[in-house]
Amino acid sequence: MFTKILIANRGEIACRVATTARRLGIRTVAVYSDADAHAKHVALCDEAVHIGGNAPRESYLLGERILAAAKATGAQAIHPGYGFLSENEDFARQCQATGVVFIGPPPAAIEAMGLKAQSKRLMEQAGVPLVPGYHGADQDPALLQREATRIGYPVLIKASAGGGGKGMRIVEAEADFAAALASCQREARNSFGDDAVLVEKYVQRPRHIEIQVFADSLGGAVYLFERDCSVQRRHQKVLEEAPAPGLPESIRQQMGQAAVAAAQAVGYVGAGTVEFIVEQPGGYDAPEQMRFYFMEMNTRLQVEHPVTEAITGLDLVEWQLRVAAGQPLPLQQAQLQRHGHAIEARICAEAPDRQFLPATGTLVAYRKPTATSFTQGAVRIDDGVREGDAISPHYDSMIAKLIVHADTREQALARLDAALAELVIVGLDTNVQFLRHVLGTPSFAQAKLDTALIPREADRLFNQQPVGLPWAAAALAAHRLASMAAKAQPGDPFSAADGWRLSGAVDHTWQALWHGQPVSVHMRQQRGALALRVADGDWQVLQLHAAPAGQVDLQLGSERLRGQLVVHGRVLHLHAAAGAAVIEWADPAASDTDTSQAAGGLAAPMPGKVVSFAVKAGDAVAKGQVLAVMEAMKMEHSITAPRDGAVAELLYEPGDQVAEGAQLLTLAQ
Ligand code: ADP
Ligand code: ADP
Ligand code: MG
Repeated sequence: MFTKILIANRGEIACRVATTARRLGIRTVAVYSDADAHAKHVALCDEAVHIGGNAPRESYLLGERILAAAKATGAQAIHPGYGFLSENEDFARQCQATGVVFIGPPPAAIEAMGLKAQSKRLMEQAGVPLVPGYHGADQDPALLQREATRIGYPVLIKASAGGGGKGMRIVEAEADFAAALASCQREARNSFGDDAVLVEKYVQRPRHIEIQVFADSLGGAVYLFERDCSVQRRHQKVLEEAPAPGLPESIRQQMGQAAVAAAQAVGYVGAGTVEFIVEQPGGYDAPEQMRFYFMEMNTRLQVEHPVTEAITGLDLVEWQLRVAAGQPLPLQQAQLQRHGHAIEARICAEAPDRQFLPATGTLVAYRKPTATSFTQGAVRIDDGVREGDAISPHYDSMIAKLIVHADTREQALARLDAALAELVIVGLDTNVQFLRHVLGTPSFAQAKLDTALIPREADRLFNQQPVGLPWAAAALAAHRLASMAAKAQPGDPFSAADGWRLSGAVDHTWQALWHGQPVSVHMRQQRGALALRVADGDWQVLQLHAAPAGQVDLQLGSERLRGQLVVHGRVLHLHAAAGAAVIEWADPAASDTDTSQAAGGLAAPMPGKVVSFAVKAGDAVAKGQVLAVMEAMKMEHSITAPRDGAVAELLYEPGDQVAEGAQLLTLAQ
């Protein structure tokens, strides 16, 4: 076994790998960019080497510099994590040439699976079922269109080099094919430097079910069951679970065997995932009619590998290290067992109500549910950040992964919801409440899974009511009273065993903003008790019960709410089982001018790159029309017209890097 490895990654996966290495007594070397000098992964490793600037191509994608760091520190092997260099066959080859072990498959296997079209041709030969489609080398647009017609609409055009949900276009009808092809090729060229595409049948209401495979260098290969990753937004996974609900045992075995055959067809070694798209022609109630087709193979450890670890009780990073060190697979197929049900939620910095626009900022508060080991209660958090760290625009928007395990799916779902309710992140937008809404949909609860779950349940998922205004108002009043009392009488009034002790008369009104909506909150003392009134509603008796620091325990009439409270400036964040709320109290000294609209809607919502303009100077535009497309944090965002008008000037060119808030163009009347 190795005694020292270098981890060529950052964030949660670098931390994840470091944790197993430490458990096995293997020393670790971190690499880091400027922005990551104080990152958690650097702190977790035994040594760290600075490799360059913030953009991945100035640091985490610089294979030569990373290899030099491995040499300089005496690391015998490199774990690439996922993303970055993990599926780069040239880097794997350079490692080999330098005498450093690449903890991953042989370069030839990465190459064989690297391009979707080519890997499909290989899989066809290996007898693995494929979605009907065209994956030839001839890229003549007329030919591609004829193939689409032969396959039958709707079709999916996919960038052969694509990944991360990018470079895909659904085409509903022949008339739209040419435009969709051009746009897909443009994105593929920009993102992957290769505009080759494939065309395949767009499967309706499919499930995404993938098989974890593992092979050793001695010819052994097994599958570690499946994961269902059907809950997606923008073709990217949101929730992942194992086992796949309702998957008939016979189909599980067929998929497992097909996945092992796929791996063996390319001489695979190490951890890999074979992704299948699964058609459900008989609907949710006829699982025996499911048909699965090979989609792609990811030749690395997958983001969602922890759900497999949870149900098998195995450490997949340990397996990777053993296999890379030349050892046989620790277990044979017949020895592998699964227990219970696991679900992972990807916690991302993003605004679900604004088309999942990625968010950046500082983790002003980051409080996590208590993690337990998988043998006792089962809540696991994999992250690469700490309170006070920044989520920057340089890397992707995943903050953490929350994984739960329980005996049944129903229990796992309840456990995940409870853990999400305990997770408090303040300082930037996150998808935490959105994830809770997804768990609450009938589709998810009843395991009616397919990749259209989010759009289908949109009414229950987007623009949902936050926690009731009275509770937010009560928390605000309690907090303001406590801070006034703390000034008058030191010590935390909430920690007194008998709860709130009043000293002196109470009669206050606060002007507040509840999710941007102005409200007045009144509080007064009435016959020895506190009473609360929101706007011109009724007075209600409010009781403040003792609660630990950072929490509130409120009672309005007979209803009670316990929650966590984070106060940031004049903004109060209340997180409770029922949901979350944000309420801000006015600073009487501040003027009421609103600066948030200053940029007028034509500004970059975040730092990124201008991909294209859909208009030119002089064009008349209608409110809501797409004016420009930007790319940031691996996603495209449209900038739309805030009103009717005419384009006066374009202030940037495609390809330009722009700062957050930079105005991209000007509109005349
Ligand atoms: P999964 O492991 O669930 O299949 P993805 O395919 O979404 O995950 O990608 C895993 C990670 O790999 C992402 O979080 C991202 O960091 C990285 N990644 C994926 N595709 C790309 C890409 N085209 N360019 C850069 N990084 C990518
Ligand atoms: P990536 O490399 O970006 O992960 P994939 O080929 O794995 O690309 O596809 C990503 C997602 O796109 C799938 O999980 C699925 O939701 C959807 N998808 C892919 N192929 C099809 C198809 N033929 N029909 C319907 N949906 C598909
Ligand atoms: Mg995929």
